[in-house]
Amino acid sequence: MFNIILFGPPGSGKGTQSEKLIEAFGLIHLSTGDILRREIAAATSLGLEAKSLMDKGNLVPDEVVVGMISSALDNNPQAKGFLFDGFPRTEAQSVALDKLLAEKNTEIGVVLALDVSREELVKRLLQRGLTSGRSDDNNETIISNRILEYQTKTTVVANYYSKFNKVVQVKGEGTVDEIFSALCSEIDKRLSI
Ligand code: AMP
Repeated sequence: MFNIILFGPPGSGKGTQSEKLIEAFGLIHLSTGDILRREIAAATSLGLEAKSLMDKGNLVPDEVVVGMISSALDNNPQAKGFLFDGFPRTEAQSVALDKLLAEKNTEIGVVLALDVSREELVKRLLQRGLTSGRSDDNNETIISNRILEYQTKTTVVANYYSKFNKVVQVKGEGTVDEIFSALCSEIDKRLSI
């Protein structure tokens, strides 16, 4: 099993690249943002609880997303590997993920960290807001808060995995195909070890 964390700030291209990577490497895509949006659409109690936080650009509690990931791992026993997108977002989530994977005798193979300037992130998110229907994409105050949450709570995730030499920085600006091939070559290097 080979498991990947696609890491980076909001708007760094994680969703776009995830779609291509799961196809190329036969991985199961686990995006906590997508799972939460499905819960909101289905009007579950979890979705209702998460919505007010997501609408402000705040993170939802660790135990909520860790519980979702735990169920998703259990529901996919035949997976060749998982691609985590938007998770983990705090050190506590990272520790919890490592524990869940260890219980399944596996681990994170690599953390691919997309590097994109703040200016480009805001531009992309506002652009996405025109078509995504996501209320957290079309308001610059909410976008700024999401970037602040990333800087204050999520950058530590890269530090955490750096201690295990698992983090690779990849330039997240350029064409979708250029970024995809840079990501693929980092994965291939590790798969051939
Ligand atoms: P995303 O689709 O990854 O941009 O996530 C959208 C929103 O969902 C975030 O702004 C958070 O409110 C929430 N969210 C998604 N993933 C997580 C996570 N791992 N931890 C906490 N909140 C999350």
